[in-house]
Amino acid sequence: MEAVLKFNGAAQEVTGSSFLLKIRNTSLLIDFGLFQGEDYEKNYLLTYCNVKEVSYLILTHAHIDHCGRVPCLVKKGFKGKIIATKPTFQIGKIMLLDASKVMREHYKTLYKKSVRKGLKPPLPPLYDEYDVLESFNYFKIALPYEVPLILNKEIRVVFKDAGHILGSASVEIKDLKTKKKIVFSGDLGNKNKPIVRDFTLPEASADFVIIETTYADRNHKSFEESKMEFLNAILETVKRGGNVLIPTFALERAQEILFVLREFFEAGLLPKVKIFLDSPLAIKATKIFKDNPEFYDEETYQIFLQKDPFEVPNLFLTEDIEESKAINHIKSEAIIIAGNGTLTGGRILHHLKNNLWREECSLIFVGFQPKGTLGRKIIEGASKIVLFGEEIPVRAQIYTINGFSSHAGQSELLEWLTSIENPQKIFLVHGEPEKMEVFKNILKEKNNWQDKIYIPSLGEEIVLY
Ligand SMILES: [Zn+2]
Repeated sequence: MEAVLKFNGAAQEVTGSSFLLKIRNTSLLIDFGLFQGEDYEKNYLLTYCNVKEVSYLILTHAHIDHCGRVPCLVKKGFKGKIIATKPTFQIGKIMLLDASKVMREHYKTLYKKSVRKGLKPPLPPLYDEYDVLESFNYFKIALPYEVPLILNKEIRVVFKDAGHILGSASVEIKDLKTKKKIVFSGDLGNKNKPIVRDFTLPEASADFVIIETTYADRNHKSFEESKMEFLNAILETVKRGGNVLIPTFALERAQEILFVLREFFEAGLLPKVKIFLDSPLAIKATKIFKDNPEFYDEETYQIFLQKDPFEVPNLFLTEDIEESKAINHIKSEAIIIAGNGTLTGGRILHHLKNNLWREECSLIFVGFQPKGTLGRKIIEGASKIVLFGEEIPVRAQIYTINGFSSHAGQSELLEWLTSIENPQKIFLVHGEPEKMEVFKNILKEKNNWQDKIYIPSLGEEIVLY
């Protein structure tokens, strides 16, 4: 028994990504993400690995469901080295600091509620800002794409561009003693999107593949088509004399929206409306994007050589809360981009309070709205919502644009996976069980690979060889 793989997260679910790979005496973790939504309490369990034995943590990218438990690992005694691309380290830092802030606020709300209702106190936040800062000491090895890194003289690690968000990587791990190769897809990107490059295909030979399946059951609408839907939604709102609200996550999507608005404006398609990026986190993330042009795709790089790809005329960056409140006075011709993307918190809620009841305004969703979120409730046709204890009627126009997803659709996942010629075993992770079943059936029909596919459970340990 020389290599064992353990599934510590993202097993038949989409959050908490983490895999423990033990090759002889070297233990590596691939991602250590936060469990989110109804799985949140799983974050308090760290029993899936002996932290002190882990020599390396490889981060595929900076989304919080892939890096959000790093401070927990350090608190529990991790003394190894963290390996990631340069943008993953940079973005990961602001994401983790923000996560600690959100946890503290959430804890305060739950605590007050428990006192008021005589319930037992909530679980304490997983970590605070100090723990986050402490974990940065372990951000040791910034690894570029395609440059091999040798660990303990027997394991070779290579990052390939996963095309998902800035700095995202797939990871190829080769056991130099047995020549076996294990490939982790990370989150793969939706091709033909601006800013990031399309994913790089893995090398044709690999023995074991661990692939994400977030959208394994469907293909997305084309990005060009979605862009036009987005533009029309904005123009209709401007014509009606209302404001446009765009709830969005701070990373990647916010920058894509700015990029696309600049394109519209330069093509003479968009009137000179006021645009507010009302999210301190998105403003910081945009600065990191501007710092890393070497990670852009060719088109964005060419634009960067001439100008700032994210600079739109009349763009206001509202970091300060007072600046944010001043937006309340604007009744028309404003595009307000604010977090969070699923309306479960953040500054967007204040803008909803001021605009959602006005039929001339619009709310444009550019991201997936999971079950149980306020965003989902509105998409499903709620006629009123409760915000800050007040009932608000939903009269604004609601638009849902699908093609902005940062995840590969089914055909892209197939393209990536089937470029590997004859894998011994394929593990489906980071997806809902129904979607994995759809993907499994397709692989069965197309490639006769049914015996190679396995859907692991949380905490399951598999001997690879
Ligand atoms: Zn991701």
